[in-house]
Amino acid sequence: MSRKILIGTKNADKVREVRHAIADLGFELIDLSHYPDVEEPVEDGDTLEANARLKALYYARKTGQLVLSDDSGLEVDALGGQPGVYSSRYAGEGATYEDNNRKLLDALRDVPEGRRGASFRCVIAVATADRVLLEVAGVCQGEILSEMRGTDGFGFDPVFYVPQQGNTFAQMGLDQKNRLSHRAQALAKLAVELKKVLKTIDPSER
Ligand code: IMP
Repeated sequence: MSRKILIGTKNADKVREVRHAIADLGFELIDLSHYPDVEEPVEDGDTLEANARLKALYYARKTGQLVLSDDSGLEVDALGGQPGVYSSRYAGEGATYEDNNRKLLDALRDVPEGRRGASFRCVIAVATADRVLLEVAGVCQGEILSEMRGTDGFGFDPVFYVPQQGNTFAQMGLDQKNRLSHRAQALAKLAVELKKVLKTIDPSER
């Protein structure tokens, strides 16, 4: 019987990307719809790493499952790495993706082309109820456009332009985004590390 991994996030966009990226690893992937009574934890870490660990441990303790949680954010060079860990609430608590994009475009209004570099960073932690088993990170570099382009994806995808592709994340299908995104890179590392770590906690694992 395959081992279960609970994808520990209520963000449906992330669940879709994680499922797509690790569908072939042979794990049974379940999500939080199986646990409707489990509330979200308060994400009060100062770093993506701290929040990824906090979420994975929290959901593992609440459900008894092996849990994978990610924390991700956009680090804009001209803003000294902001919004970073505060990306989802950049325009305030309860802000929509559109609010956040508009605030970012506004903040960068006077920043010329060539100085609009930014990186998406993703940290993924895997935990049991007792401990964090592993943590991996992935980065994708790009530029912030001066307007939104494209309708796919979520979050800051419409303003995040990847020069090598000539497209924003929101102009790419999931296949293309999942070949190069920060989350895809972290998930690729995770796939390698997960097998090693599972062997150490259960030698009968493949
Ligand atoms: P988290 O749910 O606390 O990890 O916050 C993630 C936030 O970072 C999202 O709400 C988005 O604003 C941003 N973000 C993270 N990953 C992506 C992505 O792949 N595309 C666009 N925005 C992202």
